Amino acid sequence: MAQRRNIKRDKKLREKKIQEIKKKLIQQRESLLAEAEEALNSLPGQTIFPDLGDQASAEAERSFMLRLRGREQRLLKKIEDAIDRIDNGVFGICDKCGEEIDIRRLEARPVTTMCIECKTQQEEEERLMEM
Ligand SMILES: [Zn+2]
Repeated sequence: MAQRRNIKRDKKLREKKIQEIKKKLIQQRESLLAEAEEALNSLPGQTIFPDLGDQASAEAERSFMLRLRGREQRLLKKIEDAIDRIDNGVFGICDKCGEEIDIRRLEARPVTTMCIECKTQQEEEERLMEM
């Protein structure tokens, strides 16, 4: 019984930490978008967000996303996927083996989708393929 209570408490703690990670991810997404927007708006002679009203804002957002640089886009996608996984309750589960990913690994690298064992294995396989 004592052990079962501990598992429950660990799960609660993990859940709490995941919510903290979510907050961080949202912040990261916002600062990334703000940074990108600033960079784009500093381009000379361009109006990135013409005031076209609400109807056009979705369209404006789409074109804004297209203008984001590849690296930022990929990172943003990863962040959004991670937030989605949190919302769907599947965050922190390894894509490959289905085991829970260590919470410390998730805190250090929230966008990861693999546990350290699978990631190491994958990197090894990639290295072998490059050889
Ligand atoms: Zn794994």
